[in-house]
Amino acid sequence: MLKRLIQSVLVLCLFEGIMIPVLALPFQQLDFSLHKLGQDEAQPTLLIVGGIQGDEPGGFNAASLLVTDYHIQHGNVWVVPNLNFKSIIQRSRGIYGDMNRKFLRLTSHDPDYAAIEKIKTIILDPRVTMVLNLHDGSGFYNPVYKDSNHNPHRWGQSIIIDQANLGGEGEYTGLEKMAQYFAAQANQRLDNEEHFFHVRNTYTSNGDQEMEKTLTYFAARHLKPAFGVEASKSFLTHERVFFHLQVIEAAMRFLGIKYQREFNLTRHDLKDRINNNVQVSIFGNKIFFDMHNARRRIGYVPLKKNTPLRANSNNPLVAVIDEPHNYRVQYGNRNVTRLSPEYFEYDDSIKGIDMMIDGKSRFVPFGSQIKVQDHFRVKRMSDYRVNVIGYRSKKGRDEDGELIGYQDIHKRYSIDTTARRFRVEVYTAHRYCGMVIVDFHDKPVASKIRKNSDSNT
Ligand SMILES: [Zn+2]
Repeated sequence: MLKRLIQSVLVLCLFEGIMIPVLALPFQQLDFSLHKLGQDEAQPTLLIVGGIQGDEPGGFNAASLLVTDYHIQHGNVWVVPNLNFKSIIQRSRGIYGDMNRKFLRLTSHDPDYAAIEKIKTIILDPRVTMVLNLHDGSGFYNPVYKDSNHNPHRWGQSIIIDQANLGGEGEYTGLEKMAQYFAAQANQRLDNEEHFFHVRNTYTSNGDQEMEKTLTYFAARHLKPAFGVEASKSFLTHERVFFHLQVIEAAMRFLGIKYQREFNLTRHDLKDRINNNVQVSIFGNKIFFDMHNARRRIGYVPLKKNTPLRANSNNPLVAVIDEPHNYRVQYGNRNVTRLSPEYFEYDDSIKGIDMMIDGKSRFVPFGSQIKVQDHFRVKRMSDYRVNVIGYRSKKGRDEDGELIGYQDIHKRYSIDTTARRFRVEVYTAHRYCGMVIVDFHDKPVASKIRKNSDSNT
């Protein structure tokens, strides 16, 4: 629970958790990432694949949470949370067609060709013991027909195998037995029988020409145990994630993989983790934005002149997309914000600023967000200019030394739609030094200004 503790103290520094480099790329160059958790190469390795279809957020958010919120203490988990990253960004099943039908035959001209070749190599890595491919499926699979939403033709709440047994000499060949075990383990932790997982065998080798083309069958053909996991699209995203994680944890326990996670596995906690956990920093700690409730556009972001943008995020579903005139920040299916740059030379002569926060003096490093109850003051500095964005000084352009309260700042300059978080920027001789975010976290929501258009799908 380390992250929780850190968030509750006064200064919120970026990246006490994991830090993932994010290249700012044109959309066409976006590619999936592989995250290797655990360091025990002699032990089993579970490969989790999320986002093979871009419109199935239960699967890719579950995979992402493994990267951000699980600590693997024994064994290994490899996670590809965003296999079809471009389609995730576009909220499309597959912008170049269904990626999960490209594992049997594919011409090298196919736009997904490189990604398919790469994930095949990862699947066939001798260290990979088992593969789970995460999906969100329609309705509720049930081996017997109950009604139009619960029947053998639906996919939701199922664990899918291509055949009962894999054949070969491996340790884990009994696909059906293992799937039954995962389902039983997951179901033990569910309170509603309607939500129980069932095992669905597609008998792919008996001539199922659709299933022959899938990732799991590619694995099976190479004697690698693989399962499709389908959470029902009848549920909201965080609920789907809840179900996915039940099956993933069952598979980890089965393989003897030991883990700790940063949250309680409840739907309520998951909702919070998924919605409120996106941070982006740019050029180290020069710029830091907690993207919770971010405005659709953040203007005049002081970027470094003539330098490719280097960012980090705490979340592997974050993409920073290089577009004409701005950088689009995307979190999975969600449009987070657009950053409009203003270009500066950078100055590294100071690492932060001395501030009085509600009467208490402290050093605040650049790249942090600090909670303020009522007012703050930046200690006077010669040679440096302080610019509190949205505050108009009575004495001129330099705003250090002034006592500034919540009421003194124009709310439309906040970085968030609840108008509580503001930028304090420092410059010297027209060079940009760094930024601190002041967070009037206690203030009532001033107004919901152009709330993000996220819907929970
Ligand atoms: Zn799917």
